[in-house]
Amino acid sequence: MSDECWNELVGDIVQDNDDLSEYLIEILADRDDIVAVKYWMAQLDRPYYALPAWVQKYIHIKQNSELKAIPRTQVTKENSPIDYYKIPLENNEIIFIDSMSTYERLLDRLFKNNNEEIFIGFDCEWKPLFNYTSTSKQRISVMQIALPNEIFLLDLLHFFHTCDPETIQQRLAHRLFDDDQVTLLCYGFKTDAAMLSASYPIFNRALLSGKTLLDLSLVQHELLAAKRDIFPYATTNNNISSKDKGLSEFVRLCFGKPLNKSEQCSNWERRPLRNAQMLYAANDAYCLVEIYKFLSNNLQSTDYLNSFRGKKPKKLDSTIAREIDENFQDTPNNNNNNINQSQTSNDVNHTSNEIIRPYQIKFVVDNMLHGLGKELRVTGCDTVILGDDDPHTDAIRYARAENRIILSRGAPYNLLRSHTVEGRCWQPPLNVPAKEQRAAVLKHFNVKILPEDIFSRCTLCNGGDFAIVDGRDMRLLWCKINNYLIKDLEPDLINYKPEMIDIDRMTLYNENVPLVLTGLTLKNYRSYEEFYVCRQCGRVYWQGTHWRRRLNRNISLTENESTQDNDDDNKNNDDDDDDDGIVFYDAESTM
Ligand SMILES: [Zn+2]
Repeated sequence: MSDECWNELVGDIVQDNDDLSEYLIEILADRDDIVAVKYWMAQLDRPYYALPAWVQKYIHIKQNSELKAIPRTQVTKENSPIDYYKIPLENNEIIFIDSMSTYERLLDRLFKNNNEEIFIGFDCEWKPLFNYTSTSKQRISVMQIALPNEIFLLDLLHFFHTCDPETIQQRLAHRLFDDDQVTLLCYGFKTDAAMLSASYPIFNRALLSGKTLLDLSLVQHELLAAKRDIFPYATTNNNISSKDKGLSEFVRLCFGKPLNKSEQCSNWERRPLRNAQMLYAANDAYCLVEIYKFLSNNLQSTDYLNSFRGKKPKKLDSTIAREIDENFQDTPNNNNNNINQSQTSNDVNHTSNEIIRPYQIKFVVDNMLHGLGKELRVTGCDTVILGDDDPHTDAIRYARAENRIILSRGAPYNLLRSHTVEGRCWQPPLNVPAKEQRAAVLKHFNVKILPEDIFSRCTLCNGGDFAIVDGRDMRLLWCKINNYLIKDLEPDLINYKPEMIDIDRMTLYNENVPLVLTGLTLKNYRSYEEFYVCRQCGRVYWQGTHWRRRLNRNISLTENESTQDNDDDNKNNDDDDDDDGIVFYDAESTM
């Protein structure tokens, strides 16, 4: 996101709100960004003396250290500008539709040749919501329709709803989504569809058909897996990251330059749009047409691509059908084009009574909720935890690419929720221990835990594939690590040949991940007959005291065990903690 667009959004939210203004400055001070602190003090008219004492102290220290620092010449930014993909503007006109005359131009182009096949690049933009309140309404603000040489940006917010719904709006909806001659090139359409349906129910009927849709994200996914060499800019070593990087990466794979996504989260409700926003919006739709052309040329046929036409993302129908139930069917002619009547309802509870097992659900946990993420892994839920430096928006990427539910909190939660399909982004209770948060998450999503789920995932890396290692292998490894001779420390193993561990390399046989031995004492090695090694990160687990407590939390463990615990990286899980709060699902009692 560009600084300009960030400042614009933030200023829009925090101005006139003293609490938020102060909070913003505190966050920036906490992040040690003195330049931003001073900028916002001036912008928001927050004098030094009105700031919290610790922020005053921070500014004071910073100013002193600046004075003491050796004067230096201005630091130039090292970032060289990235060469982004651009529309050739000499051949293409960008038209913002905010009047009947420009709208008629679009309709004329769309319906000019009713019997000829046409390809349209399609995308939508909306303003992200940071400060969600019950009266906040999120709605699509701009719809991009890219035709050859003309890219139309339709102002849905201020112009479109003034059009006659019975004729003009429905005609457009039908042409875009339910017409045999049209192929609508889109990317990751599920989110757009849910938002479109919630914002403008007039589109619902046509969306439910969706026969025109050709979602290029499906094509990208399949081609990267099966026919990678078709991309001139594919490299062999980034095949994991490629599929997750979305449209920008798709454009780079085809044309060698990524899309500039810095305006993605900007204020799409401002009018007029900034020039950078206009270009961004146009680019996003235009590039889809170019990708289609590029792929049909390289595949020397359009049959493969066209086989994706009409394939809708899973669950799209039910999402739209629900919107129809709520907004359309009950009131077929009752102002259903009125945008103020509809809004997304991402906060609805998981209402289904269906019982979900941990292997049936996946989460991505924002970076302020590390503890919760590890607790979910302990119960066997596949959980990605964002790193401290990862942007919150990475959660959206994981949610879309891997069908994960987002767990976040505070302002990032509101941002993420606004980009997520209903019910797929949730905020756990705040200011409670991670275990209570975990219990709340499991309850909210109706996830039932059985004893075999416990530690079925690596708490360190989320891997779910463990090698079972004989305790004798570990005893030999202990000798190796601590420079003991086998004949001195483990004389009975002098002729034992390790089954799983390559002792010299300190890895599993035929694998390259070094084993991670945290908190293993000599007593551990000798106490357990089996160990579990995460094949992904090499961490070694054993069924120590904590494991047993999680399974039999009511059994008193009074014997004097001094073994260390598997959860030494989580300070909440010390050995004195008898109750893990995991309530196991008792299938029989509920049947
Ligand atoms: Zn692991």
